[in-house]
Amino acid sequence: MVAVLKADATREQIDSLTAWLEGRGLSVHLSKGATHTILGLIGDTSQIDTELLEGLEMVESVKRISEPFKNANRKFHPEDTVVDIGGLKIGGPHFQLIAGPCSVESQEQILAVAKSVRASGASILRGGAFKPRTSPYDFQGLRADGIELLLEAKKQTGMPIITEIMNANHLPMFERVDVIQVGARNMQNIELLKELGMARKPVLLKRGLANTLQELLMSAEYIMAGGNRDVILCERGIRTFETYSRNTLDLSAVPILRELTHLPVVVDPSHASGLARLVPPMAMAAAAAGAHGLMIEVHNDPVNALCDGAQSLTPEQFADMAEKVRRIRGVMSGDG
Ligand code: PEP
Ligand code: MN
Repeated sequence: MVAVLKADATREQIDSLTAWLEGRGLSVHLSKGATHTILGLIGDTSQIDTELLEGLEMVESVKRISEPFKNANRKFHPEDTVVDIGGLKIGGPHFQLIAGPCSVESQEQILAVAKSVRASGASILRGGAFKPRTSPYDFQGLRADGIELLLEAKKQTGMPIITEIMNANHLPMFERVDVIQVGARNMQNIELLKELGMARKPVLLKRGLANTLQELLMSAEYIMAGGNRDVILCERGIRTFETYSRNTLDLSAVPILRELTHLPVVVDPSHASGLARLVPPMAMAAAAAGAHGLMIEVHNDPVNALCDGAQSLTPEQFADMAEKVRRIRGVMSGDG
């Protein structure tokens, strides 16, 4: 980190700032130019509040040279992280298709969807049991019963399951769940992230509607700082001025995150677009951009779905999309 001091900074101000920074465990390298003095801060600057520093009277500007996330940073961990999900791998060269309904609605529904998506190449079953709906009057999910239905589908199909947690007190119910999802609305639920840091289970962390990639990585950092290294990041669209699609898929998140972090990166084109017909092209684009996986909402009867029917693919549409994604991946690996 570098702090440029104002031209009129006094000797006393410089000395007291230096002492303050040294008191925080940093070594300070002072270089005095013709007009400005520059302080080079060496050490762990992740604890330093750049805004606070910038707000000091004698400071003109502050620039971070290294990112505040350490555990998630590729600089300190150049190899891709590969997360093991009940024997399946995601990350590095390993790609997985996650599919299933927005919400678990009934045993028949989740079983029918699970069997059909598995037959067309999905390896992990998704389904919401606890649903973070915008309206309290909408279907809120089957809660604990929904998890039981997912476990039955897992038993019958062999597919690991992923489902969203909204409250850390619910963790005991997630004991047999393979991957815990943190939804967009909870990306910065810090207490929840800390609890998941202590869990020994993969976490899929979705990007918030209005969060930067650095904020997403800092949320991953909370989980990793607690000792849980198995974090999968998910780009699911952000809110912009565009209203045609539900959100705007920030596809550049994929190569950017792959540059900044070693963690696997998954794309959810369903919530990103909100419209079933936009999902296959966005899924193909995400695969081409280098995503390690896709999370796709599939429903056996989208028109009557209790949640997110408009963006849900039918099993047939999913099969067609999965084949196209497979071909894109083949081209990328040079086998196509
Ligand atoms: C979901 O995946 O079911 C979901 C609610 O998505 P998001 O948190 O991205 O809105
Ligand atoms: Mn949904």
